[in-house]
Parts: sequence; C-alpha cells; structure tokens
Amino acid sequence: MRIRFWGTRGSIPTPGRRTMRYGGNTSCVEVRSSAGNLLILDGGTGLRELGRALMADTSLPEINILISHTHWDHTQGLAFFTPMTCPQSRITIYAASSTGKSVKEVFAQQMDYLNFPIPLDERQAQIEFREIGEETFTIGDILVESRFLNHTILTLGYRLCSGDVHLVYVTDHEPFAPSLYRSGVTDPKPTDIVHIGDRKHVDFLAGADLVIHDAQYTADELSRRRDWGHSSLEYAVEVCVAARAKQLAFIHHDPDRSDQELEQLEMAGQAYARRLGSDLRVFAAAEGMQIDLPETSRIPLVQISGQPSSEIGHRSRILVVDDEPAMVRYLSTVLSRDGYEVLEASNGHEALTIVRERTPDLVLLDVMMPEMDGLQVVQVLRASEEFRDLPIVILTALDAEKDIVRAFESGVNDYIDKPVTPAALRARVRRWLLTRRRG
Ligand SMILES: [Zn+2]
Ligand SMILES: [Zn+2]
Repeated sequence: MRIRFWGTRGSIPTPGRRTMRYGGNTSCVEVRSSAGNLLILDGGTGLRELGRALMADTSLPEINILISHTHWDHTQGLAFFTPMTCPQSRITIYAASSTGKSVKEVFAQQMDYLNFPIPLDERQAQIEFREIGEETFTIGDILVESRFLNHTILTLGYRLCSGDVHLVYVTDHEPFAPSLYRSGVTDPKPTDIVHIGDRKHVDFLAGADLVIHDAQYTADELSRRRDWGHSSLEYAVEVCVAARAKQLAFIHHDPDRSDQELEQLEMAGQAYARRLGSDLRVFAAAEGMQIDLPETSRIPLVQISGQPSSEIGHRSRILVVDDEPAMVRYLSTVLSRDGYEVLEASNGHEALTIVRERTPDLVLLDVMMPEMDGLQVVQVLRASEEFRDLPIVILTALDAEKDIVRAFESGVNDYIDKPVTPAALRARVRRWLLTRRRG
C-alpha cells in the first residue's frame, strides 16, 4: 500500500512561509493498493493538486473518494478536481449525510451557481454518490470499514485493509471522555477505558500499520476547546499505544501552527509514546510525504456483496426524558427541526409507559430525576427482551468518572455531557439511529 499526503491542514488552508514544510492545503490523502486501486481520503484543497497529477497520468484510473464529513476543509477541493470535468473519468464519492438531504444534494449545494461557476450537474465525468454509515465493503482489492467518530456533525473514520496491511484514517474526532483510562490504574488495559466510545475507538485502530489521526490540539488546548470535535496529540498517542498500532501520522494541523511548532510537537509526541513504554513511531503528516507499507502476504479478500447504503428509512421517533421542562423544550426544538417525531416525559415512570406504548427508536435520558432516576429506567428496559437493543443516550451534567462507568454498566449506549450544543446532539442522535437501522 502506498500513501501520499496532499493536504494535512485542518479548518482552513494556510499557505505561507510558516507552513512550507508541513503544507497549507486541507485534508486529502491518496492511497494505492499493490494491485493499483486508487482510494482518496477526503477532498480538502489538497485534492486539486492530486487531480492535476491524475490527469497527467496516461490512463486515468477509477477514482473512489471516501469523505469523512462535509465540512469545508474536507470537501473544498472537489469543485476544483479536474477529473470531474473529464468525460472519461469514473468517480464514486462515499459519505454519510448529517441531515435529511442526500449526499448528492449536499455537494450540489456546494457547487450551486451562487457558490461556484460550474454546477455539479454540468460536470462531464460519471459521478456516483454512495451514502454510507457504519459498514464493511470492498473497493477493488481494498477492504473498507467505516466507523462513526465523535465530531460536531456525522463523521466517518475509515479502516483500509489490503493484503496484510492495515491503514486507519481518523479525522475529525474528539475524545468521548476527558481521560482515556480510569484514574489510579497502573498498567491499564482496554477494559480500564472509561467511555465505551473510546474503547470502541481503540478497537477500530487495533494493530494498524499506520494510523492517520486528528491531533489539532495539545491536551492543554483541548481542555479549553471541548465540543469543537478534535483530538489532542496526547489522546492520539494514547489510543494508538492502547491499540498497539505501529505508526502514528498526526494530521489536521491547527491553522495557527507553524512548521517549527509542528516539529516540536513531533518530538513531544514521540517522547510521550516512549514514556508510555511503547515503540510507536510518531510523526506529523506533511504535504508531499509518501509512505510505503509493503504487503508481505496476500490474504484473499472476502468480496462483500451488495451496495453500501445508509438511510434512516422512516420518520424516527425519539423520546426525551428530563425533569426540567426547559431542557425538554430545548431538546425537542432541536430534534423537531431535523424532522424527528419527539415524545416527551418528565420522569422515569412516565418514560417507561411511553417506551412500552409508543416504542421509540431512541431514548435521550436525564440521569438525575426525582423518584426513579435515569439509570433505574435503563435497568428496567434492559431487563426486557424487547428493549435490550433500544439505543439509550444519557444526557447529564454529572461528569465524574465513576458516574460514566456506572452509566455504561447499567447498559446505556452513549453518554453526553450537559450542556450539549445543538450540533453535537444532532450528530450523536443520528449516529445511533443509523446504527440501529443496520442492526
Ligand atoms: Zn476538519
Ligand atoms: Zn470538521
């Protein structure tokens, strides 16, 4: 597998003297399998140069673009991607939709005449859009696994496997809990990870030859930028060490970060891995950098049949439970705007009655309520066969480690800190609805 970085910057392009070494273009990574299949991870501004390189090739390969999410810094290069205007090229774009709009509609809007001179439907290439969620599918000889991350909109991470080589691409992603492991644990194991989301994240990276991971901030910066949807370098190192990954290329460099600062971070990241007793190699992804991961054995690929697709088929029903009327109103307003049917309850008993009578697709549950608290509600529901798999997301101001652990032990699927921003709420809700549909 050959990997080449065409864009490594987060948020906004930053050309200039301070960014010559690591580059100013936003997220774009080219991946070639040993059989020559081409996959592109994200379509930030780095995609423009990659497009030029592809057009200079004698034969234009089939192009597959895996988009992490539709924020500008991951999609802005698409409008300038020359193969899009070439009748011979065949392009498939994979992405998750964060709204009721299809992925195609989202990109058509990006290239709408008010925003760009050449609209999407005037592009001459054969362009296909595939809406995906969490799935496993094949593109040529590459096995692709997609996994929802923790960002302000629905965002996918990708794990690519070709032969015996594994590459994981994770941007943009915020740690689910303030610290990875329970405090006071020496020699921590995956079971000591506080939040189930972080535990699954480590699973997703397991044994990878190379992890390309968001590290826009340092731990100190992240503590002041919670809910912005990004990782710290320390977290990226910790999850890679826990997953026993071999190399970490950190990416999505902050626009304010100079080459000199990135060099220092590189050393700090490497030293941190050593302190954790790991031989993980840590480096900052740089524009133009190429990495070869040789495949030593050809493991036959299991062809996955069927087209990946991800849609929430019907109008989903969400039960919101909180003893504070203002909170119920806030959650209801945000979710109704996305077209969900919202049911409301103000205590645990009422919640149980509504779940049994109306069978919601997801429950958003406050923990601290008089009489019957949220976790008691979860225990009752989990005891019945019918509601064992019902997605339950706890929403609470309690953020002590022991409360998070207790919530997961009682059977909740996810845990969100109050106050929650509308964007974070919508992303997490949609993520669980899509997962439920796919069983
Ligand atoms: Zn980004
Ligand atoms: Zn983003």
